[in-house]
Amino acid sequence: MEVLYRSTRGTSGTVTASQAILKGLSEDGGLYVPTRIPALDIPVEELADMSYQEVAYQVMSRFFTDFTEEELRRCISRAYDSKFDTEEIAPLAKAEGAYFLELFHGATIAFKDMALSILPHLLTTAAAKNQVKNEIVILTATSGDTGKAAMAGFADVPGTRIIVFYPKDGVSPIQEKQMVTQRGSNTYVVSIRGNFDDAQTGVKKIFGDEKMKEELAAAGFQFSSANSINIGRLVPQIVYYVYAYAKLVKNGEIAPKDVVNVVVPTGNFGNILAAYYAKNMGLPIGKLICASNENKVLYDFFRTGTYDRNREFILTSSPSMDILISSNLERLIYRIAGEDAQKTRELMEALGSDGSYTVTSQMKEALGEFYGNYASEQETAETIRRIWKDCGYVIDTHTAVAACVYEKYRSETGDNTPAVIASTASPYKFARSVMEAIGGDAYDGMDDFQLVDELEKVSGVAIPDAVSQIRTAPVLHNTTVDADQMPEIVKKILGIG
Ligand SMILES: *Cc1c(COP(=O)(O)O)cnc(C)c1O
Repeated sequence: MEVLYRSTRGTSGTVTASQAILKGLSEDGGLYVPTRIPALDIPVEELADMSYQEVAYQVMSRFFTDFTEEELRRCISRAYDSKFDTEEIAPLAKAEGAYFLELFHGATIAFKDMALSILPHLLTTAAAKNQVKNEIVILTATSGDTGKAAMAGFADVPGTRIIVFYPKDGVSPIQEKQMVTQRGSNTYVVSIRGNFDDAQTGVKKIFGDEKMKEELAAAGFQFSSANSINIGRLVPQIVYYVYAYAKLVKNGEIAPKDVVNVVVPTGNFGNILAAYYAKNMGLPIGKLICASNENKVLYDFFRTGTYDRNREFILTSSPSMDILISSNLERLIYRIAGEDAQKTRELMEALGSDGSYTVTSQMKEALGEFYGNYASEQETAETIRRIWKDCGYVIDTHTAVAACVYEKYRSETGDNTPAVIASTASPYKFARSVMEAIGGDAYDGMDDFQLVDELEKVSGVAIPDAVSQIRTAPVLHNTTVDADQMPEIVKKILGIG
């Protein structure tokens, strides 16, 4: 049966999956959601014997119903290949009685790779299906991680180009090195004299520039974005929850139909929303445990029913979760509002104008399957150190926030249901914070690459290729411009104007 997509703010009608992927955001400002969540109508015993790619097909074919089997399988096999350093794609590791689902074995050693390695293929397939002849130009402003993961995904994908802008002095040395060494004849990296907001504002301006849009179309190009509200990023994230559950059954850790809890270190609310969708498909998930760092907007929301972004923005050691507006939460709001687009629009408009909104008591009740808590900076570091000391397993700062919140949940509730903790980054990606947590000031004065060597010694896990390669890789991009020159540089890259 066909699954269609409609906007959470509901003024336009429905679109097909491929149209939703092409558009990204709906014209009324809402996010695309499936008109119904399909059931996972396959016995778990069958899922247990499937490869990651096969599970991906089973899940994605139920959501992307206007893609043919051949199209979807081609997207999947191009995405989940040797770019990942393990055939399992998303392996499980057991420590302190919990199952860490390692989502960091892709090209940039963080979980964004799980979705961004397939999005380019979904997007180009969707373009072909909808008779779009233009070449697709992805424009992204990045504070470090997303831009690199997007480039790794789009590199050398026919029919696409990607241009990434980052703030010259606003990313870490390793992040900058990762970007300027990016290969692929269709990738372009430009640094901006300014901060991340300048880069972001510049990209938004280009997207809104009608004249530029016309010039691009005349030259056979059209812009698109790879940001995390695209349904083509959300659905691929459902896959690994199904895969993890099936593997736990296969390995005899749980029996079929046993309930598991899921713990997710959360920023934009995409990853945990995927777990919620998996639960709605029928996967036996109990509590959805939402872990925040000191930017604890979501913890406050689950506790009080009020979402309030009016607060200080705190820079933490888990920067990918330093977020005050969790965009994907809108999809949950829509569900708990009984799929009421008018109500959703009101709340989101209040968020835009006042920076806050409060859900009704009925909606708050519907949040009962979620549990929210947060970890302070000190608790995060202590968690890394404790799990390393007790189990010899080294986790990154984001995963540590989740592990810490899981401990709080267990001691508060006494609920010892088996739990899967989403492990969202390799500790090598955040080597400095991880080594400080483990060794205190013993590593003072070392540069980032020396810390990587120290991490290899204490963890016993080999340095991933993603890190060792950038040590010696040649710099391929060295353009720097002022923010107001961004439109010109885009045209120059595309050879127009
Ligand atoms: C993006 C990211 C997160 C947050 O995921 P959301 O889907 O935005 O909630 C957590 N950890 C890492 C390492 C990330 O890159």
